[in-house]
Amino acid sequence: MTEGHVHSGSCLCGGVRFEADGPLRDVWACHCGQCRRTSGHYWAATSVPLERLRLVADDTLTWFDSSAAARRGFCRRCGASLFWKPAGEERLAIAAGAFDGPTGLGTARHIHTGDAGDYYRPEGPPPDTVAAPSRLDCACLCGACAFELPGAAGAITACHCRQCRKLSGHYSASFDADESRLDWHRRDTLAEYRTPGGGRRGFCSRCGSSLWFRSAAGEFSVEAGAVLGPTGGRLTNHIFVASKGDYYLIDDGLPQSGAW
Ligand SMILES: [Zn+2]
Ligand SMILES: [Zn+2]
Ligand SMILES: [Zn+2]
Repeated sequence: MTEGHVHSGSCLCGGVRFEADGPLRDVWACHCGQCRRTSGHYWAATSVPLERLRLVADDTLTWFDSSAAARRGFCRRCGASLFWKPAGEERLAIAAGAFDGPTGLGTARHIHTGDAGDYYRPEGPPPDTVAAPSRLDCACLCGACAFELPGAAGAITACHCRQCRKLSGHYSASFDADESRLDWHRRDTLAEYRTPGGGRRGFCSRCGSSLWFRSAAGEFSVEAGAVLGPTGGRLTNHIFVASKGDYYLIDDGLPQSGAW
């Protein structure tokens, strides 16, 4: 279906643009701690041989060595999670949410499901909340940004809007928090990106991890994937599903709205 077709994509700000020649591999959703920390929820990606990928713009592309076995590519201006490159392999995993148009793909598997967050299940309805921590420790993947806030996370909303898809690489999951009660331990590498709607998005400029979002009206939310350990929260609803990607289904039975 996708053979011979050129799939274009980009980060949110356009500093990184790419074209991949099909066919693209089916999408795999990864629930490992590293993917959850960088994307803010969990990460979903296709994969192509390097010879079939062209970087049309890479002015703001930054690589972070997330382990000895792989590095992660993100945009240092908007913080979008874009690529995952395994060492010694001539292929690149590309965030499925980064594509501009329909991918024609499906999600073939969920991997590292044992590391999934406590607020959702890789497939099906989220578990009932059991542990409800009184404090939440949050950090980016490299650890240069860290803060804590009063817990538990409570209601967590999934957003499938284009902006959240481009930034997270899949879709976002976040919970409302009182910004004045965040206790920052470290934030030397904290960067902010002003979104087209006038909001602000906080991310780590060294590792690209998504941390928080502040709307133009001042509403503040924390990315659920930034929480280390149990969130004590539960996914409650999906918004902006009219702009969701074509490569996944929402099958958890939770309420969905086309916009918000
Ligand atoms: Zn960007
Ligand atoms: Zn970091
Ligand atoms: Zn959104």
